Amino acid sequence: MFEKIVIANRGEIALRIQRACRELGIKTVAVHSDADRTLKHVILADESVCIGPASSMESYLNVPALISAAEVTDSQAIHPGYGFLSENADFAERVEKSGFVFIGPRPDSIRTMGDKVQAIKAMVSAGVPTVPGSNGALGDDPDVNIRIGRDIGYPVIIKASGGGGGRGMRVVRSEASLLNSISLTRTEAGATFGNDEVYMEKYLETPRHIEIQVIADEHGNAVHLGERDCSMQRRHQKVVEEAPAPGISEEIRNKIGSRCAEACRKIAYRGAGTFEFLYENGEFYFIEMNTRIQVEHPVTEFVTGIDLVREQLRVAAGLPLSFSQNDIEIKGHAIECRINAEDPKTFLPSPGKIETYHAPGGPGVRVDSHIYSGYSVPPYYDSMIGKLITFGNDRSIAIARMDTALSEMVIQGIKTNIPLQQDIISDNAFKAGGTNIHYLEKKLEL
Ligand code: ADP
Repeated sequence: MFEKIVIANRGEIALRIQRACRELGIKTVAVHSDADRTLKHVILADESVCIGPASSMESYLNVPALISAAEVTDSQAIHPGYGFLSENADFAERVEKSGFVFIGPRPDSIRTMGDKVQAIKAMVSAGVPTVPGSNGALGDDPDVNIRIGRDIGYPVIIKASGGGGGRGMRVVRSEASLLNSISLTRTEAGATFGNDEVYMEKYLETPRHIEIQVIADEHGNAVHLGERDCSMQRRHQKVVEEAPAPGISEEIRNKIGSRCAEACRKIAYRGAGTFEFLYENGEFYFIEMNTRIQVEHPVTEFVTGIDLVREQLRVAAGLPLSFSQNDIEIKGHAIECRINAEDPKTFLPSPGKIETYHAPGGPGVRVDSHIYSGYSVPPYYDSMIGKLITFGNDRSIAIARMDTALSEMVIQGIKTNIPLQQDIISDNAFKAGGTNIHYLEKKLEL
């Protein structure tokens, strides 16, 4: 196992990684921006290095500063967390070329999965179900593109191969606007992602977002840890996540999960990853793979009893997974609410000083957050300040515990989305389970 690693992130995930390291006896180096000196994990770290000013471009995305932080502290590996450089293949390559271990997949896996056309091709050949579509980049021949649109059937969606964060997509409802939409998406994709390759897919009207967690080691073991339902979204951002997904039987889970694990073996995947699917009328359609630990990983940890960050560290150190597929049993139900420093109605960010903070507790309650009374939420980064996760033997207990925990959670001095989360948790359709990805936005319009 490693003796010392650099945590190349901030906020709750940096603290989460640090906790796993401390349990394993690994020393941690916190790298932070000028604005983040008072982060909880920075205070708790064995060593800390300021890597630049507040702006992410000059700090958390500053590759030379991160590499030299690893050098000067004599660290062995770098954990990128999520966001920032976590899915940047060039960064992973630079880390490895500099003699450190990148705690994540091999750079070529990150590169393949970061290119959606390539990712879909890899999935098709691995037997993972994908959305009916062009199965490759669109060319310039208008007649061919019109034929592809007719074959798929309207509505269709034009997506940028290099897209991400819910950007670079355009829904087309009829043939009349197809060619114009292709050229607009192409132009935008070139300007935004530096890659003007686009492809076409069937647009699913009312899908749910269901994803499969996987983890693989370097010894040929790849295991799936069941699914999460992340359909409660606003502007393609997840708001509430849960595991397991309501209505998914063990048989369906094992069928789609084993396809994903098999795909990992085929592409020689290493580390934790997530296969994201749209799920409609009982069918799964792959949309993308995330090659990092995800925000919502704790719900999977609750229902499987597996510490995913610990396993990430083990796998990166070359150790085999500490369990096999047969050891995995999904037990109970877990729900996660993302807690954001934002106005619950307008969604405007609400940075500033937290005057008072009371964390909830009790059976089946987990709080992953770096905040404390007196901590100032800086205005420069993502507004998520923590995650509240509850577990119960069944979904209704997890919901009741979430309801109680949200009412116990006090954050004064800034605005938070706790009232919105209370609204969602007490919503009848949410309680029934199985709402689609448009449900929250429709509810907010009312
Ligand atoms: P990104 O990398 O930008 O997150 P995704 O491919 O994961 O892009 O898609 C983001 C979201 O866009 C999905 O969660 C879904 O809401 C919507 N979406 C993408 N593809 C389709 C599709 N074929 N049909 C319907 N909605 C889609």
